[in-house]
Amino acid sequence: MRNLLIADRRPSGEGAIRVIEPATGEPFEEVAAAGPRDLDAAVAAAQAAQPAWGTRTAVARAEILFTLADVVRAHAEELALLEARNVGKPIGDARWEANHVADTLRYYAGAADKHFGETIPVKKGGVALTLRVPLGVVGLIVPWNFPMVIATWKVAPALACGNTVVLKPASLTPLTALRLGELALEAGVPPGVLNVVPGPGAAIGAALTAHPDVAKIGFTGETATGRAIMAAAARTIKRVGLELGGKSPCIVFGDVDIDQAASEAAASVFANAGQDCCARSRTIVERSVYPRFVAAMQAAAERTVVGNPLEETTQMGPVISTQQRDVTERYLAIGQQEGARLVCGGDRIPGPGYFLRPAVFADATPGMRIVREEIFGPVASVMPFDTEEDAIAIANDSIYGLSGSVWTNDLKRGLRVARALETGVLSVNSSSSVHLQAPFGGFKQSGLGRELGLHALDHYSEIKSIYFETAP
Ligand code: NAD
Repeated sequence: MRNLLIADRRPSGEGAIRVIEPATGEPFEEVAAAGPRDLDAAVAAAQAAQPAWGTRTAVARAEILFTLADVVRAHAEELALLEARNVGKPIGDARWEANHVADTLRYYAGAADKHFGETIPVKKGGVALTLRVPLGVVGLIVPWNFPMVIATWKVAPALACGNTVVLKPASLTPLTALRLGELALEAGVPPGVLNVVPGPGAAIGAALTAHPDVAKIGFTGETATGRAIMAAAARTIKRVGLELGGKSPCIVFGDVDIDQAASEAAASVFANAGQDCCARSRTIVERSVYPRFVAAMQAAAERTVVGNPLEETTQMGPVISTQQRDVTERYLAIGQQEGARLVCGGDRIPGPGYFLRPAVFADATPGMRIVREEIFGPVASVMPFDTEEDAIAIANDSIYGLSGSVWTNDLKRGLRVARALETGVLSVNSSSSVHLQAPFGGFKQSGLGRELGLHALDHYSEIKSIYFETAP
């Protein structure tokens, strides 16, 4: 049984979570679940630890975060294996993620002493200056699709800025968050600075959001949950950072290498079994190359190696749970009822575990539910367009605005379309959304605020403005 982490105590919680391995459908580990008293204790521990952590020099905090990055790097294989088994993601991807966690900690360790205020000439004769000060205790609530990566995107800048943290991982995937908390203690992060409390979102996540001693909630998850968090945070005027759902477009013009674009478009939906907020699940293709593209995307989907996440050659593992498989299958049925053409996949792979074959719908239309709603499973919808304006209009016809791709060899057009798309993150001739050094976050109902890059530090600190009178 893995226990909670509150200060340097490992209490056994007020309940238990049975963690299932999605590749087998079998119980994998048991983890303590926090109850309301545990949550209060975690917030109290974070509050008690904050003054000392927040008043250390940024250089001193950075040194500890650099050490933590090294400790994580030394445990990368252990973390990767835990994540691969818990989420069902391919071990190669999980290794990349474990090293990305170490890179993220290094980045914010390096940034800690480079985030500072200004001196400002003002009309009165004295000196105005600004200080960056920590918010206090921050509550971080994260989802199950990239558990340790998304936790670290928040924990690292929060700690670098001098805040202390109560981290609530998703109940499906609490393992790496708890291990990161233990590694932080090993690296010299003082007890109480990073507390980890797995537990049900509706109770523990909601209690963290309502807690009067928590200054900010950094949340990643569904748009509907983000709405509830924003409403609850209003009561205490809590700061909120929201990274929410997506239904990202991938626009393909006819002047590119169709096989390459189709392979990348397929990979951008089927990576992490489609459980990726940045999945380009709406593929919008110039009509002149549409039939060729659909055939190439089908071939790419059928080539995707689906299987045991611990095999080195696996490209796609199972979805996380029976519930996620049911949701995906429901959308596969809805798509066919709506008149989209299922060209491949969608069927279960016989045997244990929650495996589905990657599915491609052709002839989708912008009004269909499979095009409008986030499925969060390995399902791509492809539709044709006639003009650049049509492509932009179809892409922007969404409540979401997280990421997207444009494929074209016409650079002027690439930039024109990139500027016109209502998304927070966009790539031209690529499907990558995440660059540690660049801001990440959504427009519209995909979120509020930015993570990664130096922008994240602004969201984990307050600006204090001080005026010094110099006249006698
Ligand atoms: P979810 O919203 O169901 O849960 C996310 C977290 O919130 C979990 O820890 C959960 O326990 C907690 N929670 C649930 N209800 C709560 C409440 N009322 N108050 C406080 N906390 C609560 O999301 P999920 O199913 O775990 O993750 C999938 C979703 O996350 C998808 O919509 C996906 O697009 C989104 N996501 C977004 C990003 C991004 O950066 N924009 C990244 C990854 C995932």
